[in-house]
Amino acid sequence: MNLNSIAKQYADVDAAREFFEKQRWPDGTVCPFCGLVGEAYRLKARPDSKSPVRVGVWKCGGCRKQFTVTKGTIFEDSHIPLNTWLMAIHLICASKKGMSAHQLHRMLGVTYKSAWFMVHRLRYAVAHDPLAEQLKGVVEVDETYVGGKRTRKARLALKPKPGQRDIEIPSTVDTKQPVLAMVERGGEVRSHHVQRVNSANLRPILRHDIEYGARIITDTGTVLHGAIHPRKHDQVNHSKQEYGRYENGFCITTNTVEGFFSLLKRGIIGTYHHVGSQHLHRYLSEFDFRYNTRKITDGERSCKMIGRVSGKRLMYKQLAPSAPEF
Ligand SMILES: [Zn+2]
Repeated sequence: MNLNSIAKQYADVDAAREFFEKQRWPDGTVCPFCGLVGEAYRLKARPDSKSPVRVGVWKCGGCRKQFTVTKGTIFEDSHIPLNTWLMAIHLICASKKGMSAHQLHRMLGVTYKSAWFMVHRLRYAVAHDPLAEQLKGVVEVDETYVGGKRTRKARLALKPKPGQRDIEIPSTVDTKQPVLAMVERGGEVRSHHVQRVNSANLRPILRHDIEYGARIITDTGTVLHGAIHPRKHDQVNHSKQEYGRYENGFCITTNTVEGFFSLLKRGIIGTYHHVGSQHLHRYLSEFDFRYNTRKITDGERSCKMIGRVSGKRLMYKQLAPSAPEF
């Protein structure tokens, strides 16, 4: 699958809908109401009926209820045609550092509000499954800070006005957001936006995401040590210019997780420019998804994203009041 083939093969909504049906139901239709597999049939208008039947509607042979391929997915209730969704999915999956809502709005000819909501729905779809397997083997853990300093204009606006002496002047760095990431060597990454970097916040995340027998590697001088305790872990001493060392033929380094951070930062600085802290976890889901599917082609990655859309819905009002106003 590439942009050229999508433009040719899925130029109309019906072809795109059939493609989604094939991706979502490889073993026959699944009724979203009763779960019956392969017992639904396409709804056709009766010969004597004057009212037309909506295309793409299926009827379950078991519970007799009607549904379409978008039922119970992030596409439900979306007025964006499915072929436009397909194009958006491919553009996001094929861009290494992501694609901004503004660029999608220009490339797909949808409004900025629609594009913004589409990318957030897709990020939501690829969020980590809380029941996913734990990371095992060798796991590198590190934290970083993303986001920029406040601009001069923003700082001046926050400065106390005459008579408002008690207001604390905000620092230039308090807008940076901490991100914790864990990478299994040769495997997957899990990253999290944390409110504050302290043991109490990090410990439950590490316990949930890393298998107990895994070998953990961090750098020195982080609060991670307290969070990892009582598990043992290896450290590299970055302050002594040590970035990797061999112990019994095993390389102790955090270069893998640093590599993930550099991709994330280049994406946030170069593509998104500004990420609202309330949405950061969804951007992280997107970068994690792209990293975890790095060994497959763009087309396969797009199909994988389509496979993740079911069982999820995200309403615009769930994103509000942090959603931009238009
Ligand atoms: Zn049914």
